[in-house]
Amino acid sequence: MTKQIVFAITLLITLGVFFYTVNRLIQFFRFTKPAFPVKDFGKRFNTMMRVAFGQTKIFRRPVLGFFHALVFWGFCIILIGSIEIVIDGLAGTERVLHFLGPVYNFIVACGDIFAILVAVSIIIFLARRLFFHIKRFEGIEMKKKSHIDANISLSLILLLMISLLTMNSGYAGYQTSSAAEIYGVYPVGSILAGLFSGLSAGNFKLMYEISWWTHILLIFFFANYLPYSKHFHVFMSVPNVFLSRLEPLGKLTNMDNITREVKLMLNPETAYAAAPADVPVERFGIRDAEDATWKNYFDSLACTECGRCTAVCPANITGKKLSPRKIVMDLRARMKEKGPLMIKNGKEYNDNKSLLRDYISEEELWACTTCNACAQECPININHPSVIVDMRRYLVMEEASAPGELKSMFNNIENNGAPWQYSSADRLNWAKEIGFEVPVMSELSAKGIKPEFLYWVGCAGAFDDRYKKVVRAFARILNRLGISYAVLGTEETCTGDPARRAGNEMLYQMQALQVIETLKSYDVKKIITTCPHCFNIFSNEYPDLGGAYEVVNYLQFLNGKIEEGSLEIPRESLNGAMVTYHDPCYLGRANEIYSDPRSVVRSLTTNFVEMKRNRSFALCCGAGGAQMFKEAEKGDREVFIERTEDALETGAGIIATACPFCMTMLTDGLKYKNKEEEIKNLDIAELVVQAMEKRPLQGIGGERIEKTLN
Ligand code: SF4
Ligand code: SF4
Repeated sequence: MTKQIVFAITLLITLGVFFYTVNRLIQFFRFTKPAFPVKDFGKRFNTMMRVAFGQTKIFRRPVLGFFHALVFWGFCIILIGSIEIVIDGLAGTERVLHFLGPVYNFIVACGDIFAILVAVSIIIFLARRLFFHIKRFEGIEMKKKSHIDANISLSLILLLMISLLTMNSGYAGYQTSSAAEIYGVYPVGSILAGLFSGLSAGNFKLMYEISWWTHILLIFFFANYLPYSKHFHVFMSVPNVFLSRLEPLGKLTNMDNITREVKLMLNPETAYAAAPADVPVERFGIRDAEDATWKNYFDSLACTECGRCTAVCPANITGKKLSPRKIVMDLRARMKEKGPLMIKNGKEYNDNKSLLRDYISEEELWACTTCNACAQECPININHPSVIVDMRRYLVMEEASAPGELKSMFNNIENNGAPWQYSSADRLNWAKEIGFEVPVMSELSAKGIKPEFLYWVGCAGAFDDRYKKVVRAFARILNRLGISYAVLGTEETCTGDPARRAGNEMLYQMQALQVIETLKSYDVKKIITTCPHCFNIFSNEYPDLGGAYEVVNYLQFLNGKIEEGSLEIPRESLNGAMVTYHDPCYLGRANEIYSDPRSVVRSLTTNFVEMKRNRSFALCCGAGGAQMFKEAEKGDREVFIERTEDALETGAGIIATACPFCMTMLTDGLKYKNKEEEIKNLDIAELVVQAMEKRPLQGIGGERIEKTLN
């Protein structure tokens, strides 16, 4: 009875302290903004089973992933044993769940085996942290405290496993030596008990009692240490995965308050009306912790500080200040600092500090390429780019602060409908001297013809001299296949994508609503794009503004035509040239289009080689997130050089690309490396068109292709 009373008091203290701490953290949620509605429970459950319990993200790095998964699964199993200990402690029973029979035996045996596996894994993790220099664990955000915390948490887990094994061996030894029935199966505990065969039953009993108390007290202590530690993810990671964003990574959240404003501005009746006085002024984007959504804050509490995000960030890899882990940790730290002050003084309290600038600099924010490598890698589905873009939104829309080149890009879009200073009257120049009439929507419409597809050419297709060749190549394929399509020509304008990625949501929505109106006037249902950024914005973001279309990327289209046999291209039309393929972030990670481009290239050559970082692991070219229109932030090197080196390492003679920005960056990379004569950077449409027109490539040089495509 004394044992029960002591146990109950200890448990009460533990729960009291735990709920007090967690309640403080939970209280801060009331200062956050709404995020998405939590629905689609089936999908969420699926994601949780796959990502959290199946550890799929962790297994992206299989060896260490294996050890981490062992720890996670071990914890899940051992948790059941811990529940039994609590019941036993309160009720004064012994192995109370043994009535479950074989199920009990199975769970206990698994827990016993996992205890040793977890202990070994933890020793490996501790050794890595203490004796090896692992870059992922370093960074300006990783203060000494973070390292000490990680080591304390790992040591506590190790002690938990040791106490569990000692408890099991004490129990197995005592029951055996006193000829009592053993509840459960203890493969490891029994072996360990065998090592102490000289001990008396009484000593085994003492060993069991001491380790039982040690184990449960460690659990109680650990539970209360966790909320102050990076290992709080033990509690938070599974719910965080359940609450994941379910949308494609390429999609940015629509700002409905901006939509309201833009619609008022575009409506002649309300354009000049004063805003109603009773409507509170809303903040655009994130300046401080309370501007973040509840999901951003939840993410920050769940972050394990593992650094997987930072390790794959192209900006960080190339020595720029940005570290996605730091963004998440800074949000948490700022809320921890400001939360109690807001509780005391109200939400409006101003301590003359903010997340922006006091924690996160503008330089960090402008270094992001929105490549989504961080979000792809994060084992608990944290989405960093959404916070970064929201902070850019604040800078651009509330402070009119952005790098000068981006301001010029905004002006160009506003005035010319393109990120560069070109006249929209020249939008169809690419189609001159192509050898056939490129159908234009307005002309077809005047004749009462409604084409099946709108081919969205995009600003790079219309104005970039190199990319015009790609657009011409694709138009030739459409023409050869007799596809019913048309382009908008001079009626086309920028989709608003670069403005949106750079934080200018207002400009983006003005462009988008204008495009949607144009498409509505032609009753457009299906769109083909060559540019992945246009593809992403039409597929994922226009629907939020009422523009829902069937959107096809040209590589999906080409692969479909090859597979159905309507596009015949001779195999080996590249004369055995070795080809590698660079995954554009906005096709790959953003929209998971990995196999179509590869299938098309493989239908042209048997000599296809992957770069070391490919598919969802692919490194960005460095141009996304509006980087294309500005100088790169300060760093050790350029992202495009790093990516060009990946391509050169393969020994391929042709780098196949599928995005106008990737093409520019890799071509620059080849020039920087003095390889532009030797190695060609060609779009897949260009490779297909020369094969389709049966103009075999001579050597591996692309000159002939380029000539014929001009
Ligand atoms: S989106 Fe890309 S560049 Fe931006 S933080 Fe994530 S990994 Fe880094
Ligand atoms: S955000 Fe995700 S990947 Fe980055 S440190 Fe936190 S848990 Fe790890």
